[in-house]
Amino acid sequence: MTFKDLGLIEPILDALEQKGYTQPTPIQEQAIPILLKGKDLLGCAQTGTGKTAAFAIPIIQLIQKGTTSEEKGRRKIKALVVTPTRELAIQIGENFTAYSKNTRLRNTVIFGGVKQGSQTSALRGGVDILVATPGRLLDLMQQGFITLKDIEYFVLDEADQMLDMGFIHDIKKLLAKLPSQRQSLFFSATMPESIVELSRKILGSYEKVTIQPEQATAERVEQAIYFVAKKDKPDLLAHLIHEQNPESTLVFSRTKHGADKIVRKLERSGIKAAAIHGNKSQNQRQKALGNFKKGELSVLIATDIAARGIDVSQLEMVINYDLPNVAETYVHRIGRTGRASASGVAVSFCDIDEKAYLKDIQKLINTVIPVIDDHPFPDDGTQIPTKPGKGGGGGGNRGRGNERNQNSSGKRNNNNSRRRSDSRDRRS
Ligand code: AMP
Repeated sequence: MTFKDLGLIEPILDALEQKGYTQPTPIQEQAIPILLKGKDLLGCAQTGTGKTAAFAIPIIQLIQKGTTSEEKGRRKIKALVVTPTRELAIQIGENFTAYSKNTRLRNTVIFGGVKQGSQTSALRGGVDILVATPGRLLDLMQQGFITLKDIEYFVLDEADQMLDMGFIHDIKKLLAKLPSQRQSLFFSATMPESIVELSRKILGSYEKVTIQPEQATAERVEQAIYFVAKKDKPDLLAHLIHEQNPESTLVFSRTKHGADKIVRKLERSGIKAAAIHGNKSQNQRQKALGNFKKGELSVLIATDIAARGIDVSQLEMVINYDLPNVAETYVHRIGRTGRASASGVAVSFCDIDEKAYLKDIQKLINTVIPVIDDHPFPDDGTQIPTKPGKGGGGGGNRGRGNERNQNSSGKRNNNNSRRRSDSRDRRS
């Protein structure tokens, strides 16, 4: 299947070729034809699957085809994409710009935490496609800078994250302002009852596309667990980064305070790092993210909310410094690496209090994650049997079984090759 087979117009095909996309991802293959037919869509997919292009491309094509010489005077906002975080909004805007570069369509992105001046002047200049976070959108609507009366295409992105972040009232206010005649797209990585209920308020008769998270995790990302005491996590992190020297590493911390502590620790070990989280200003976050994307900063520490959807091509390693207490979050996190066609590595630190989380994660992804125990900071003897194979049923670590690495001589040898053989075992 090629993009041409999906019936895309030349200006878009050229833009995709320039982006280096050779073939559609599964969500694109399934969603684009549905959307080009004008149908509503419920997409159950996480970032990393190519879902942005899956909705952006057909929206561009539909607007482009419908826009003819009658389009005189000021542009009207025809498509609205609402997404929970500023980082995601910026990325979606960049995607629209890339895919529509050979058309005359314009998009702009609005989000809170910065002055509104440049956003309102872009709006005054006229845009066809608006990407927004909910708070700033409602604010600029109230001030009269935006009307939704001409919206033909509405996308609610990362709906589960929207609800987690408490945006439900904002979304309800928005829905009341949207024209009832519209095409609606609803994306969520998970589909609990609250999300299904919200989707019913937004979608008319719709088609559903589900891209299983397992596809993104099990097939593309090499995963590994390090059992380690909480107090040793900073040293293990510095050790891993020194030893493996990845070009880009995204480290997840459960808390903002924890993220700052990790940065300080790494800097004391001679590793340059920066943190992004809700207590940092928008400028600080954009600067850190920009440097990370350009490759000038190789280690970025992030909380889940700040990192949601971060799109860094070729992200080499994700480290779960803290394991998430919600298993789906693990899937979102490791989806930051191994995007679209690339492969990646996801390493998780697990202390004794986090073992229950690990169990939930392994159940969700239906995979036993290989354990690396040949490292300088193994958890104390009650957690890690000193001799492989001894102490059989003795309540050792979950999931260690046949994937355990026998090479525990204390010599620090090449972790990469070790991980590769582990990951082959994993599927057996
Ligand atoms: P998304 O799930 O939208 O965040 O996309 C994940 C990453 O995949 C982004 O870096 C996209 O630029 C990239 N991508 C999307 N579609 C394709 C494709 N068909 N071929 C190669 N890369 C793609």
